[in-house]
Amino acid sequence: MKRRHFISNTAKSTGGVIVASSLTTLGLFSGSSSRAGEKRGLGVALVGLGSYATGQLAPALQMTENCYLAGIVTGTPSKADSWSDQYDIPAENVYNYQNFDGIADNDDIDIVYIVLPNSMHAEFVIRAAQAGKHVICEKPMATNYEDCQRMIDACRKAEKKLSIGYRLHFEPYNLEAMRLGQQQIYGKVLESDAGFAFPLRDKSRWRLDKEMAGGGPLMDVGIYAIQSTIYTRGQLPVSLEAMDTTVDKAFYGAVEGTLDVKFEFPAGIKATMRTSYEESSNYLKVQAQEGSWELAPAYSYGGLKGQTHLGPMSFPAVNQQALQMDDFASCILKDKQSIVRGEMGQRDMFIIDKIYESAAIGKPVSLKGIPNILHLV
Ligand code: NDP
Repeated sequence: MKRRHFISNTAKSTGGVIVASSLTTLGLFSGSSSRAGEKRGLGVALVGLGSYATGQLAPALQMTENCYLAGIVTGTPSKADSWSDQYDIPAENVYNYQNFDGIADNDDIDIVYIVLPNSMHAEFVIRAAQAGKHVICEKPMATNYEDCQRMIDACRKAEKKLSIGYRLHFEPYNLEAMRLGQQQIYGKVLESDAGFAFPLRDKSRWRLDKEMAGGGPLMDVGIYAIQSTIYTRGQLPVSLEAMDTTVDKAFYGAVEGTLDVKFEFPAGIKATMRTSYEESSNYLKVQAQEGSWELAPAYSYGGLKGQTHLGPMSFPAVNQQALQMDDFASCILKDKQSIVRGEMGQRDMFIIDKIYESAAIGKPVSLKGIPNILHLV
């Protein structure tokens, strides 16, 4: 497969300089082509060949420089065959959920990437660490805070790195939103509003099963709104108040259909967010003392747009997943900590648990004890 173009246009604003230089550091601008089966740096095994692994991660692994698709773990034999053919994966690098632990003896696999339904993340991250592999785990990290701790402990014990699939920390528009807010380019952030929602009404999907998903849209897309609320400021909230605003409660049952959250940051600064399976939205709006900015769409795989009070932003189109995986491989090779390490996933799970607690009791809750993890730019 030919390497896709990472740059569709030139970064025009100051923020683009930062982004472009960090992309260059990651070595993603060489323009060389890569082929399925070609070994480049560390070997990655994808676990769970569903829509995200198929549509995003495997194609991204054809563009990475520091890692490549070396193996697969699947419960579906037909996928094992078709993926092996398409990506030239040798039979000895194909596993199922039962024989997965044998991956410990496979030197081709350095990184295991968990792309399973949420309730399976903890088990497979822990098994991957026990097999002596570095791990990337998709968001949400788990379905509760305690499982996140078990996952972190297992990786620490095995002396392996753990990161979360927070791809937007490698995306230029979101990096610019971080820079504007954290560096107070237009003064202090006064308020923000974030929303991520899409309609989901297919009861057969695990995303609507409380056991497997751990919750509703908050676990799925709402987590991006939590993330952007925090990384826009580079600060942690001190309390929150959540309200279950589901319209069709009879349909969604045990999981929320829609959820609204108000956060309070230090000095009484407020933020709001909304997530839903009953409508569509995809934005981040920020008001600072001397200016404002907005991303919409803010969280998609591509086609992001942004503007400040001065006019449109313009940044290169990137493959977020390729950058994210290359960065993790680079962290392993250089023994550095990932900017999206496991503890950040645990921080978000702390917030999610508190959101559900507040919605259940109908009162604000303190975020005292929140893990102090931030990505500062
Ligand atoms: P899918 O339902 O499309 O795929 C999940 C895969 O997991 C299945 O295809 C199957 O693969 C495997 N699986 C194993 N056991 C089960 C089971 N009991 N029920 C269902 N699937 C099972 O999910 P997605 O790919 O959309 O999501 C997977 C994870 O990735 C989730 O945690 C999600 O939150 C995250 N995600 C992250 C995104 C991001 O932008 N970072 C975007 C989309 C998803 P097989 O047949 O190979 O065994």
